[in-house]
Amino acid sequence: MIIKNVALETVCGITSVLPRNEKMEVAFAGKSNVGKSSLINALMNRKSLARTSAQPGKTQTINFYNINDELYLVDLPGYGYAKVSQAAKDQWGKLIERYLHGSEQLKAVFLLIDIRHEPSANDKMMYDWILYNGYEPIIIATKMDKIKRSQIQKHIKMVKNGLDVKPGTAVIPFSAETKQGREEIWEVIEQKIKP
Ligand code: GDP
Repeated sequence: MIIKNVALETVCGITSVLPRNEKMEVAFAGKSNVGKSSLINALMNRKSLARTSAQPGKTQTINFYNINDELYLVDLPGYGYAKVSQAAKDQWGKLIERYLHGSEQLKAVFLLIDIRHEPSANDKMMYDWILYNGYEPIIIATKMDKIKRSQIQKHIKMVKNGLDVKPGTAVIPFSAETKQGREEIWEVIEQKIKP
């Protein structure tokens, strides 16, 4: 994908009406601090259009980034931030549910997992929830520059086992530092939005 123009077009909070977009959408989920903003910025070739977490977990919004007037990258609010109240967690759940359930243009959901760590119970719940909503999550194992190259396959296996993924599920290792994995992710996106 050659990025010609990108814009943060819509920001939806818990009380917002979600947009009925005409262009296709692909969404990104993951726990706070997993590297979601860094990934979205890397995909867009921008340094800081997507927020990077100065205050992780603070903003519970779904952000729609218009790419070349061709598609939307959809940034779902992060989860797993301990200091958030139960009420905020409930609202987070309702917002995501409303989006996953309601979008008619959503073509793929990526779930980001830190390549260094075993997936958490929240990660597993998110994985199952995406499946339940009718999407087969594509896993992105983030921060791959933080482990040795020789360890990557072992960690990918750990991520797959931890999420108990369906056979054949893709896990794409990615680094926002080196941009490794960026092209592969764009290839998957382009496949998914083919008419
Ligand atoms: P978000 O909360 O999921 O949006 O996470 P951010 O993109 O804000 O990243 C959280 C922290 O991890 C920041 O300090 C980033 O600089 C760092 N980070 C994100 N991606 C990578 C990566 O691929 N490699 C390394 N080394 N650090 C990363």
